[in-house]
Amino acid sequence: MPTVYFVIPCYNEEEVLPETVRRLTEKINGMIASGRADRKSRMLLVDDGSRDKTWELISRFSEENELVSGIKLAHNRGHQNALLAGLMTAKESCDCAISLDADLQDDIEVLDQFVDKFMEGCDVVYGVRNKRETDTFFKRTTALGFYKFMAALGVDVVYNHADYRLMSRRALEALSEYKETNLFLRGIVPLIGYRSDYVYYDRHERFAGESKYPLKKMIAFAWDGITSFSVKPLRMIAGLGAVLCLVSLIGVIRALVVRSFITAGFCGVWFLGGVQLLCLGVVGGYIGKIYGEVKARPRFKIEEYKK
Ligand code: UDP
Ligand code: MG
Repeated sequence: MPTVYFVIPCYNEEEVLPETVRRLTEKINGMIASGRADRKSRMLLVDDGSRDKTWELISRFSEENELVSGIKLAHNRGHQNALLAGLMTAKESCDCAISLDADLQDDIEVLDQFVDKFMEGCDVVYGVRNKRETDTFFKRTTALGFYKFMAALGVDVVYNHADYRLMSRRALEALSEYKETNLFLRGIVPLIGYRSDYVYYDRHERFAGESKYPLKKMIAFAWDGITSFSVKPLRMIAGLGAVLCLVSLIGVIRALVVRSFITAGFCGVWFLGGVQLLCLGVVGGYIGKIYGEVKARPRFKIEEYKK
């Protein structure tokens, strides 16, 4: 039987944690009974520098419940880094680790299927959403647009897969070799390339608390995903520049023909100014990333580990 770690990043989740731990304890006990997990299996709750009582709850649960372990990060480093911290900790003691969100929006009934696929020999199992009815119309369309855009840019991401996935110890070892500061796990995992499979599930609504992903964070996350895996935007800028050169050349010739020098001049200058700023912004975005990568600061600091 495999030792399975359930890695759960938690940021200000005091409202959902008790229920999450209760439901998962039940589920893991069931998995132990059905021979899918051994008694050394754990849920590993990662406190991502929460400002509420999340860590107090985690420490208490880890004392009362032998299935619960917890780690506390020294700062809020965001979902992806918190997840990485959990996975890298789990790697030391597990045969496979499954990552899931604290709000249990991802259906835990399919956890058995994840482990079954692992026992059949898969190193990575992706959880894929069947439908997105519980998301708002806005979130649904922006998310689907994002997957399409990523695919158009040539980035290999699994359609409708978030961070609900199983990784074997071997896959986690491979993941630990990716040292990038700008972490976008769902883009990196397919690059590992070991044998993988899918598990399909329906996504529920968050049962308490609110989303920690407001629009601003979603945009930042999407931008991160694109610029970490594709340099096509840089090429698109070059293309845009070439087209604009051509268009302005035609414009100038035309303006000379109809003799309206002032209008043509002003419009052209403003337009080109805008385009240049836009392009500088994109280039700057990449330079900012290089800056972060070159410094190669640690991605997380574990302050406490309750086994
Ligand atoms: N999360 C985190 N650090 C953050 C933001 C979120 O660890 O800075 C965790 C959060 O506690 C949850 C998961 O990431 O377990 C997903 O967040 P959320 O459910 O708010 O996102 P949504 O499902 O709305 O996209
Ligand atoms: Mg959620």
